[in-house]
This record gives sequence, C-alpha cells and structure tokens, in this order.
Amino acid sequence: EKFKEGLSKTRNSFVGAMNDLVKNYRTVDEDFFEELEEILISADVGVHTVMELIDDLKDEARKRNIQDAKDIQPVISEKLAELLQKSDQESHLLIKENELTVILFVGVNGVGKTTSIGKLAHKFKQENKKVLLAAGDTFRAGAIEQLEVWGERVGVDVIKQQAGSDPAAVMFDAIQSAKSRKVDILLCDTAGRLQNKVNLMNELEKVKRVLTKEIPDAPHEVLLVLDATTGQNAMSQAKVFQKATDVTGIVLTKLDGTAKGGIVLAIRHELDIPVKLIGLGEGLDDLYEFEADQFVHGLFS
Ligand code: GDP
Repeated sequence: EKFKEGLSKTRNSFVGAMNDLVKNYRTVDEDFFEELEEILISADVGVHTVMELIDDLKDEARKRNIQDAKDIQPVISEKLAELLQKSDQESHLLIKENELTVILFVGVNGVGKTTSIGKLAHKFKQENKKVLLAAGDTFRAGAIEQLEVWGERVGVDVIKQQAGSDPAAVMFDAIQSAKSRKVDILLCDTAGRLQNKVNLMNELEKVKRVLTKEIPDAPHEVLLVLDATTGQNAMSQAKVFQKATDVTGIVLTKLDGTAKGGIVLAIRHELDIPVKLIGLGEGLDDLYEFEADQFVHGLFS
C-alpha cells in the first residue's frame, strides 16, 4: 500500500491520460497512437523506447484484430511489464554469503545518495547483517556529518577521516576495519561534485582501485544514484558515469515526487543498466528493491 502510494503521482497522471485517450478516440487508429506516443513521452519514457513500444502495439493490435480503444489498454500494460521484466533476474543486489560485500555509491550531489545509503543500511540491519559505512565524500562541507547522522539513526558505525582528506585513504581504513570486525556489508559514500568531471572520475577510479586491491572482486556493486524528478538530466548524468566507471545498477530516488515515473523504462531500455532500488520517500523504510511486476501493478491498479 505504501509502495502504491509512493507511485501515486505517476499513476494518477498516467491512468488519467489513458482514460481520456480511450474516451476521446474510441477506435485504435493512427491518431490514437500518435496521442499515446505523446502521453508516454511526457511521462519520460524516452523517445526510442516509446517508438519501439508503439510499433509493438500496432503489430499486436493488428494480430489480435483490436479495434476498440479500451481493448488495447491491457495490451499496453502487458508490453510495459515485458520491457521491465527483462531485467528482473539481474535486478537484485549481488550480496555475498558469509563474506564481505562492498557496495560503492556514486552520483552527483543532491540526488539522494546519503539518504539511500542510510535506508539500505537500515534494510540490511533488519536482516541481521553487520553493516559499516565509509564516509568517502571528504569534499562537500557537511557530507561526513550527514552520513554520521544516518549512522546514528540506524545504529551502524561510520569510518571517517577529516574533511579534505584523501577518499582512497578512507576506503583503505574502511575495508581494513570491515575485515577485522567481520562486517557483512560495507556501504561506501563518494563525492558528487560535478564541477570538474575529470577530477571526480579520477577520484572514483582511485577509490575503486583501493577496494579491488584489498578484495579482488570488490566493489561488488557500483550503484549510480539518480533523481527521478530530473528527467533528461538524470539520463545524461548516467552517461557520464557509465563512461567513467562500471556502473552495475541504478538507485532511482524521489519517484514519489514526480508524475514522470516512465523514466524507469528509459533508464532500463536506453542505458541498459538494471534499476536495482527505488526511493519512494524520505523515511527509513522508503527504499524498495525493484520488481517489474510490482512496479507495473503499482502504475495500473
Ligand atoms: P546526496 O547529496 O546525494 O547525498 O543527497 P541527500 O541524501 O542529502 O538527499 C537530498 C534530498 O533528497 C534530501 O532532502 C532527502 O530527504 C531527499 N530524498 C532522498 N531520497 C528521496 C526519495 O526517495 N523521495 C523523496 N521525496 N525525497 C528523497
């Protein structure tokens, strides 16, 4: 229920537009598809994905001999689900059993990185896992303190150094500490200043190298945090990070704050990175593992 509530802006606007469309057109013709295309694009579904979807729907309508506009609605949700479902097996976080799992969070300032780390720490703690946080954003004023606030709230320790210190050194400390304390999950924050992309990307590479040197298959996940309310900006951020580092999954935040939840499809389809977690609010429990079925269900019913 809380999940559905979190998607209500997107659901209301999408379902409303679809109902109007069916009312206005009645029959499935060229104009109908053109209008549908516009609805999907304005929900941030992404132009390429929309084109494919519309072609698919036209084929399906022809094959099934659908003429009445209201009969195509279930086919639309079916197709959307298919697009998202492709990603389901790989959409789960890779967590090692009885071994340390290292998860690196990257993304620009303000997208919800620290909040997502706090929420995920909470989730793992509830599963009785031993969690440690690494304060790798040594650049932004207040970033270390903000992570500490989350650490206290959730009840997990934070490994930190002074502001301005080398983030790679923080990571080295954190991984040693995680090993000696027999931690299950180490969640690493990183800087998100994008004023100087080259600098930031070099810093992230160095951080990754330190982790890999200590544990050859670490980081086990590199999660890029994107703000769903920023639409095309989120897409271009993703391209910058994808070029610079091996992003293994997306954390899509603030889906509760937008009617344009179609961006989930654009990210999945056009960037080819699985969405692994979605943020639907500011509270501790408002982070969900992405499930295609649950998501499509949240949009249509
Ligand atoms: P960071 O700079 O990337 O670490 O971003 P923060 O974690 O500080 O988050 C920036 C703001 O976004 C804060 O006010 C958070 O409460 C808010 N925020 C983060 N995730 C979500 C979400 O899923 N939904 C909503 N509504 N707000 C969020």
